[in-house]
Amino acid sequence: TADAVVLATQGLSKTYGRGKQRFEAVRQVSLTLHRGEVLAFLGPNGAGKTTTIKMIAGLVRPDRGQVTIAGEDPHRHARALRNIGAVLEGNRNLYWRLTPEENLEYFGVLRQVPRKVAHRRGLELLDRFELLDKRNTPVQKLSRGMQQKVAIAVALIHNPQLLLLDEPTLGLDVEAGETVKALVRQIAAEGRAILLTTHQLDVAEELSDRVAIIRRGQIIAEQSTESLLQEFSNSTYQIEVE
Ligand code: ATP
Repeated sequence: TADAVVLATQGLSKTYGRGKQRFEAVRQVSLTLHRGEVLAFLGPNGAGKTTTIKMIAGLVRPDRGQVTIAGEDPHRHARALRNIGAVLEGNRNLYWRLTPEENLEYFGVLRQVPRKVAHRRGLELLDRFELLDKRNTPVQKLSRGMQQKVAIAVALIHNPQLLLLDEPTLGLDVEAGETVKALVRQIAAEGRAILLTTHQLDVAEELSDRVAIIRRGQIIAEQSTESLLQEFSNSTYQIEVE
């Protein structure tokens, strides 16, 4: 159904280090994300966005709290990973010397998609992302924007319900940024839930239905993008977010 919950987190917390080095990076983060919805995780560098997204992706184990993706906890059941697509750490989820077509087939098979299906889906994604003519060009020869599109295609090859994007437009030129933003909207429109991090208010504004603002590991506000923007126009915390 349209309002099905895809992602729920409950009281996620993570402390790095011990003793005097102890640092509470994330504290009590609870979020809910529905089908077709885009949630922007907005906050300054070091606020805990990446740590949170890594806990959701199953990469960093939370000290406390729970993650549920389409009913499954990625920290307990590996099969929860079939519903997660992620582009983290720039677009380094690609093999640089392989072509887009090869990357898609390789990661599809790795994600247990039958090779023929992975091949067909890969070509469909490349077509949709206007990359079909680059399918045989090694990824390292593509522009930064094209590489980002290939990375997103790879994240979708196993048809996940949830897509996680860490700073999806960071380092892209204006035109490539616009292309990627249009793709994100298109991917949400087909019913996937998208959680993206950004420190740019305009990215949150253009892409998201809801915004969660994180500061020093804690969510200090969560609301519809529309109402947030109204508040920003007459408040002080714009300065603190940027
Ligand atoms: P950025 O946009 O800079 O990535 P962020 O909001 O994503 O910021 P995190 O990367 O989650 O923030 O980092 C939150 C805090 O936790 C930072 O102060 C960071 O230095 C610290 N941190 C992150 N990873 C580790 C780690 N593996 N060990 C120790 N501290 C860490």
